[in-house]
Amino acid sequence: MRPLFRPALVNGPYGDPALFVDCLFERRALLFDLGNILALPPRKILRITEVFVSHAHMDHFMGFDWLLRIGLGRPRTVSLFGPAGFVAQVEHKLAAYTWNLVEGYETDFTIIATELLGGGTARRAAFHCREAFRRGHDETLRLQGGIIHDSPLFRVHAAILDHGTPCLGYLLEEKRHVNIWKDRLDGLGLPVGPWLRELKQAILRDDPDEAPFRAWWREGERLCSQTRPLVEFKQRLAHVVAGDRIGYVTDIAFNDSNIRSLETLMQGAERLFIESRFLDEDAARAKDKRHLTARQAGWIAAHVHAGQVIPFHISPLYRGREDAVRGELASAFRASAGTP
Ligand SMILES: [Zn+2]
Ligand SMILES: [Zn+2]
Repeated sequence: MRPLFRPALVNGPYGDPALFVDCLFERRALLFDLGNILALPPRKILRITEVFVSHAHMDHFMGFDWLLRIGLGRPRTVSLFGPAGFVAQVEHKLAAYTWNLVEGYETDFTIIATELLGGGTARRAAFHCREAFRRGHDETLRLQGGIIHDSPLFRVHAAILDHGTPCLGYLLEEKRHVNIWKDRLDGLGLPVGPWLRELKQAILRDDPDEAPFRAWWREGERLCSQTRPLVEFKQRLAHVVAGDRIGYVTDIAFNDSNIRSLETLMQGAERLFIESRFLDEDAARAKDKRHLTARQAGWIAAHVHAGQVIPFHISPLYRGREDAVRGELASAFRASAGTP
């Protein structure tokens, strides 16, 4: 399966948290946490459509200004998500600048902020550039089953965790995945091309089987096409499987309520990105700061049956000792895997 999501830590395992998730073929990307993002080229920042912030400690949220700076003057909307109090935090960030000249802008860069409250509700507000980013369009939302964001291709689940302050853990779930048997294209006399992406989208949208679908391509200057009922392309070329799942969790205390919440949230996570802030030798410090040790992170990853575990947000205390952190995480993950 060629995964739809390609995740990469913007600042490596030690730097500010920011996980850039490119959605292949979609010309869009997601970001989990918004620490310093200067290492991301602007063309990548301009692909970001949603940002899922765990909490607004500075190392997780200071990249907001750069996101705003790059997006300003462009006809784009970026949606941000965070814990209780987050909408006001976005509002205050925007209110820190002077906006007297933006009303006549041709474009209307827009930020939509959503905060997850308890009891399956959320609050949302929009900030339009042309309205000088004044808070508006306030609404309260009812969420279904912890799903904080739903789009045709994927959904994002969130859980409120404890870090001494509410902190969100996320699971990114691709709804279904369409594989194309490329070796069968020849038999139909069809080349690869952007139409395959349109075919995948039609299948994922559940377009009716009898709906005409047009495969198209160019031969030099000439535009060629072949139209058949969707079902024919589907049966001959496509293979639909369960989608990819990526978990993201950071800045949490190692306690029962967090573990219980993660058991539910992280079901089926193939790749789990999890903070490994401290080594076990500094477990008292981790407890004090409501962070995880690498050993605890490995235990959690095994406990939720993650397929693979990737550490990040490692304390700079351990620069030069990355192998020790990874080793501790891996051995806890292996030792606990398979235990009930
Ligand atoms: Zn942090
Ligand atoms: Zn924190």
